[in-house]
Amino acid sequence: MPLITGRGIVKRYGSFTALDGVDLDIDHGITGLLGANGAGKTTLLGMILGLHPVDEGTIEVLGHDPRTAGPEIRTRLGYAPEHHTLPPDVAAVDFVTHVAELHGLPGPEAATRSSDALWLVGLAEERFRPMGTMSTGQRQRVKLAQAIAHDPRLIMLDEPTDGLDPVQRDEMLRLIRSVSERYQIDVVLSSHLLGEVEQICDGVVIIGDGRTLVQGRLDELRAGSAGVMVELDEPVEVVEALARRLETVGVPSTNDGRTLVVSGDDELVFDRVRDEVAAAGLAVHRLHRRRLSLEDLFLDRLG
Ligand code: ATP
Repeated sequence: MPLITGRGIVKRYGSFTALDGVDLDIDHGITGLLGANGAGKTTLLGMILGLHPVDEGTIEVLGHDPRTAGPEIRTRLGYAPEHHTLPPDVAAVDFVTHVAELHGLPGPEAATRSSDALWLVGLAEERFRPMGTMSTGQRQRVKLAQAIAHDPRLIMLDEPTDGLDPVQRDEMLRLIRSVSERYQIDVVLSSHLLGEVEQICDGVVIIGDGRTLVQGRLDELRAGSAGVMVELDEPVEVVEALARRLETVGVPSTNDGRTLVVSGDDELVFDRVRDEVAAAGLAVHRLHRRRLSLEDLFLDRLG
């Protein structure tokens, strides 16, 4: 059963429609929730947490409806919001303890877990410092610590690398991956950066124009988009004729000028293409496997 499912989710702010029929299936592992700034990622996370209701459609989180079971869901969920709203005068350890208590842990256990979580994110030394004296990277780590301190099943991290330089960004992504693997915590990570999602995520949901543009496990999306690229040094009519020949031997393709894209990349498809090209005596500029990046997939779906 997926951790989170959503069907036809609509959210309006007055006359503005932020989400207009989003479908979601979020599974175990790390899932990237991708979208441009303003695409509705934070809005969606808020609805998953049960903080604001959907206007239309349904959401189910860990088998519950967030409209009626918000408190139950929030005991099993950790959340790190995007904006830096940490109280500046409070020590990190006191803040994380407080959040763990809000999640239902008794005081002494919350304090122990808070220290453990801060140690885990690399802030053992700094945990007694007021958060206002911390760097952006340290504050992002505090936000991760408060999301995991109560031992949740699933954490939702809204733009956890916001404000970090490339080195800190990589460290943060590695930390999230290691926390997820070591403690078997599933993660939903919102981001507007395709590269960062590609780097650590197992699955992806891309939203845009209020809808779901692409979703699924990254390996399956990539496999589904595999193909063979045939770049020919021939006039377009000759390329079109080759496409027809390939069609007759059961290898459909699409052409883009002088390049043919043939779906599927198993050896059989490769051999058929090679044989037909050789039989027609065509000049091949390049014959190679197509491997689509997430960016290609995204652009492909946007048309
Ligand atoms: P970002 O990464 O920039 O925060 P996002 O993908 O998280 O973007 P949201 O913050 O969910 O996007 O916002 C989606 C859209 O809804 C935006 O156009 C935003 O201006 C609008 N919006 C969000 N909250 C409200 C609100 N309370 N009232 C009116 N409009 C809102």
